[in-house]
This record gives sequence, C-alpha cells and structure tokens, in this order.
Amino acid sequence: MSGLPSAIRAVTLELTQARLDRFDPHATVDFLADRGVNTIVCFAIGYGGGEAYYPSSLAPEHPALQSRDLFGEVCARAAGRGLALIAYVNALFAGPEFYEPHPDWVQRWADGRESTQTGAKMLCPNSPYGEHIVAVSAEIAERYPIAGFYLDEPSLQSWCACAWCQARYARDTGSDLPLAIERGTPEFARFLSWREGVVSGFVDAVASAVRAARPGVAFFAQHAFPMASTAQPHLRHLYWGQTAGRTPPQWEGWYRPAFYGQDIARIAGSLDLVGIEPWRRFVAQPPWWPGACVSYARAAGQGKPVLPLMEYPHFPWGLARLSNSELAVNCADVIANGGDLWFPMYAPDAADREGWDALRTIFADLDGVRPAGAQQIAPVGILFSRQSAERYGANDVEERYLDDVIGTIQVTRELGFPYCVLSEDALTDADFDAMSVLLAPSAAAMRPETAARIEQWVTAGGVLIAGGWVGTHDETGAPRAESLLENLLGVRLGPEVLHTGLGYLIPREVAGLPVGTRIPVRDEQPVVAPTTAEPVFDVMPSWELFAPPADAAANPSITRNRVGAGMAVYCGIQLGRLRRRFELFEARRIMRHLLAAGGVGDLPIAGHELAPEVGLHVWRVDGALHIMLVNFSSLEMTGQAAAVGPQSVRLDRALLPKGAAIASRRGRRIRSDPRDDALIVTVEELDEWDCLIVFGQTRQAHDAGQG
Ligand SMILES: [Zn+2]
Repeated sequence: MSGLPSAIRAVTLELTQARLDRFDPHATVDFLADRGVNTIVCFAIGYGGGEAYYPSSLAPEHPALQSRDLFGEVCARAAGRGLALIAYVNALFAGPEFYEPHPDWVQRWADGRESTQTGAKMLCPNSPYGEHIVAVSAEIAERYPIAGFYLDEPSLQSWCACAWCQARYARDTGSDLPLAIERGTPEFARFLSWREGVVSGFVDAVASAVRAARPGVAFFAQHAFPMASTAQPHLRHLYWGQTAGRTPPQWEGWYRPAFYGQDIARIAGSLDLVGIEPWRRFVAQPPWWPGACVSYARAAGQGKPVLPLMEYPHFPWGLARLSNSELAVNCADVIANGGDLWFPMYAPDAADREGWDALRTIFADLDGVRPAGAQQIAPVGILFSRQSAERYGANDVEERYLDDVIGTIQVTRELGFPYCVLSEDALTDADFDAMSVLLAPSAAAMRPETAARIEQWVTAGGVLIAGGWVGTHDETGAPRAESLLENLLGVRLGPEVLHTGLGYLIPREVAGLPVGTRIPVRDEQPVVAPTTAEPVFDVMPSWELFAPPADAAANPSITRNRVGAGMAVYCGIQLGRLRRRFELFEARRIMRHLLAAGGVGDLPIAGHELAPEVGLHVWRVDGALHIMLVNFSSLEMTGQAAAVGPQSVRLDRALLPKGAAIASRRGRRIRSDPRDDALIVTVEELDEWDCLIVFGQTRQAHDAGQG
C-alpha cells in the first residue's frame, strides 16, 4: 500500500462541528503529531450538508470558510510533520443547495417519506448526487497529494424507494421495486442483493475515479457496525426523549449492514483497507466486541488492513470520554485482533487534552507488539455467515443469529482459546489449514459451497462443532426440505421445534460422565433425529414451575458423527445464545464436553490458567511468537481493568523457536515450567495488557522490545 504507515495511528478531524474561526489547523496537526498520531483523516466534504473545506468548483463551501483552503492547510502541515493524509468525503448527507432544486435526489422510505438528519437529507447514490460524489472525489484526488481516501456512509439508510431507485430496479430486474418486507421469498432476497449491488457499485465508481486521478492512493469506505442489528429497542433505552429517528420502522431488528446495503466481502476487491465503525455501546455489545469485529472484517476483507473508527467518548457525541484504562484495553485488543487504530476528534477546535495525552502513552507502549508481516495463530475458527444474519436473522437477527455467534465467541474467549472470526463469504484454504476446530453456531442459511468445503475439511481430520439451526435454510431464509449438513452431522434437524423449558442435559454412557449427571439448560432446539450420528447427550425438557424437571422422555441434543479422519459434533441447544442472554456460565463446561466428544485434545496454544475475561491472541513473525494477553476483568462494570494475578499459557514445544527465551513487554516477571511436550508460561501480574515475546537464541532480548 502506498503512502500509509505500516502501523496506522489515525485521527479524523471532524470539521463539520468545528467552529472554524477558532480551529487552528497548524496547531491541531502539531498537537496530534506530538502524541504519536501518524495519519490525519481530514474532512474535504462534510456531513453537515455535503459542504467543502476547500475552494471546490463542484461543492458549496462551508459558509465560514470565506474562500480559505482549510483542507489544503491541513495537508501542508501534515506533510511538514511527516504525517500521511487521508481525504474524507461524506457520500450521504447534503444540504438545501442540493435537495431544494432536486427533491427527487433524496432517499425515500417505503412510504415515500424523506430520509433526514437535522438540517441535512440523505441523498441517493442512484440519483445524480452519486455522480456528483464521484466527480468531487476525483477533484480532491487531483488537487491534493493525499496518501489515502475515505468514503463515508456509502449506503441506503432508507428503503430506498426514490424515483431513481424505482426506475433502476425496473431496468435491472424487470420487476417493480418491492415496498414491503417479504421474508423468505426470492423476490425480497433479490431486493436485498440489489441494494448491496447499488452500494458496492457506487463505492467502486468512486474508487476508480480517485485512483485514476491519483494512482497509488489507498482507498477505503465505511462499513458500519459489523455483527450488530439496528438495535432500535436498545437505542430507545439509551436515548430516551427526543431522538433523530434515522431508521425506518421496517428495518427494526435487522442486521445493520443489510439495512445500509453494505457487504464487506462483496466490495473488498475495490478496497485497499477495510474501514469499520464498531461502537459497541451504541449496539449493546461487550467491550471485546470491537476486536471481534476487526477479526471478522480482516477475514471478509481477505487480509487487507482494517481501520476501526473507535469510541473515544462513550460514543462520539457522548457525555464523557472513556477512562484511560478502557482506552488502553480497547487499543490493545484491536491490535491483538489484527487491526490498526483510528479515533474521531469531534469538535477539533475544543477537544480535551487529557484523553489525547493518554493515547500518546498507549500508542508508544503498543508500538511493535504486532510487527508488520506477522501471521496469526488461531486454532479455533468461528464462522460468521452474513447470509444467515441477513436472510435467516431478518427482522429478529439478534435472537435468531447474532446472540448465538457473539455468545459463542464469548465462551471461546472464556475457555482461553486463541480464535479468529471467519467470514463465510471469503473462506480460503489457508483458513481451513490453520484451524483445528471450527465452530458454526446457527449458520442456518449457510451456502452449499460452504457446507461442501467443511465436509471436505472434516473428512481430512477437522472437528466441526455446529449448533442450533444450521444448514437448514436456503439463500432466501426459507426452510430447506433437507439440511445441507444432514450427511456430515448424521442427524436430521427439524422442521419441528423442541421447546426444552428449564431442562437438563443428560449424558449417555459414551460421554464418560458419572451416572446421574445433569447439566441445567434452557432454550429450544430443532427436533434432532440421528441417522448415522451417535447421541452423546439427551435433553430432558421441563415446564415445571419453580421445580426441577420430572423424569420425562428425553430427546437427543448433542451428537457426534465420525467422518473420515474427522468428527462432526452437533449441539441442538444454542449455547452462545444461552451464554449471552441467560448468562449461563455453565456453557463453558458444555463446550468442553463438545470438544471432548470431538476428540479434541490440547490445542497447540491455549490458556492454561487464564482469568475468564483475559483474551489470548497469538502472532508469529520471523520464528518469534508474540502472545497478546488483553485483560477485560471488571471493565464492563467499572470502566477500569482490574489487575489480575498470575496468568498462564500452554505452548506446544513444536511451536517454540530453538533455545526459546521469553520477555514481557510490560517488564513483568515471567516463569516458564517445562512439561513433556509443552511449556507453561506464566506472567506474574497483568494489568490492561501484556505481550509475551518468545524468541529464539539467535535474537537478542532487546530485539523483542522492552517495557
Ligand atoms: Zn434511491
């Protein structure tokens, strides 16, 4: 990639709410450069009304600009300080200069209502406004020596039922544009795909124009909130009273990128980096969720660098900034998951100093913990099926899909396993080669080619753990006559639902547990009918009120099926959903039983004695291992990571470089305890994070860095 640093530490100057008479571009760039920021993202076209921060021949200038070239001043000062400059263009919001003469350019809800936010309206990329954005983007790339270009909010945050969309839909498909949700129909599935094609095509058109104007520029675009719903009930809970009401009621409860018409994997070929907005408080997700989103975006973007726009205050226009402790943990976790760092500076004429001072230390401490070219070691893969989120999850995506996936990530973290989130849309042979265990929670609308590739991998020795409705629905979200995974799992699933109430999992003899063992669960599952699979646990349903289940007929719930050299394990109960919604801590124990049923022994690297809120991420570079431990203990409840005592990781000897020595990046004391085939490495104390560097005898300790 051209002029961007290999480890990006970026800040966006959000000029739309700056008081331009007070904003000093020279001093602001210096302020950030002095704090370790190496990349400035500067508004060229803002979101107040499509306003320009330079003398444009195409876009109206910001009224306070008075012909001043503010963007040019920021460019010049950034160049003077050796910082990379990325131009920001908002693709969505425009002011009266555009929508008054052209009311037909405004995005429309299905009922014809305009999509608005404060004084701006959301304009449609299918209208001539889309061509305006392409032209103004080329103008900026031609005039200024930018290293990168960021297109914000290329999206249909509406239906969109404008006249331009109606006409194009008729032209593209020969049908009328649908005006209502028709879940599980080919017509509605086509509409969802078409919307994503509109946004992808628009992003690609801007990318082409920008690259033609300035070859070598690094181009990327916004992808909002991966792994989240539109979260309307949560937003109403968070912002009581008067709110903007930006989401039409039809998209309540949908997968948020589906509402926007954004699909990372589909547009990745047009991008040099992947930009995401993982504001977790906005969508009621746990503090490690932004890192998990980075992991998914890396996979969907086929390994391209990921820049997550991170929360600095609770959310950018919030009440208070995050504690230094949470900022440190967030930064460490994003880097540990393969991302770079990017913060918005809202109101840059009046930004508080303390938070940015804290980031200077955080950036310096994290320097080099994931060196350029490092490869992740993640023996557990967790499949994210975007098609299942969009088509099967539909208007209830959290309950049907996301909670099970996010809860499964949580259980995996709590068990101390290094993992990565895989994108179904961009699976590679390297993904399959790298993992020992694949978790596929609730991937109901999995694609046939995914099912075939998983079967091939299991036959060759992989262990699949699938749960809930999986492979049971088609690309429209409607039930299939036969599950795609019926042969692999050796069970027929559904179509009936078994409601278990507050029941028990009861082990069969093969589980190797004492007679009389009962593990409480609740939830529902498909009716499970084994064909070739061996039942390992049954579920005993109960609807007794405030009483343990009576001895009742039990039904298979957990099964295993040997296929070639591998094993396909199935669990009817959605463990992740139970962990996430019901706080079923026993989900960890059940997951251990699933792994045992699959014959999974020690993973090549895993937590040995790790606190449940400590995440483990491992990278290999030049034979050295960088073991990141990120500590979320108590963070959700207090805003501060609570320091924890000794934390241990088990490493297979096969992973270790010759004559391995180990150093703590934070200068903590390390113990290593050799076992027959492994090394137990213990760091005596862990505050926000540490990076344990295992290096060979040929390297000197100082190469590994010091705290
Ligand atoms: Zn439209």
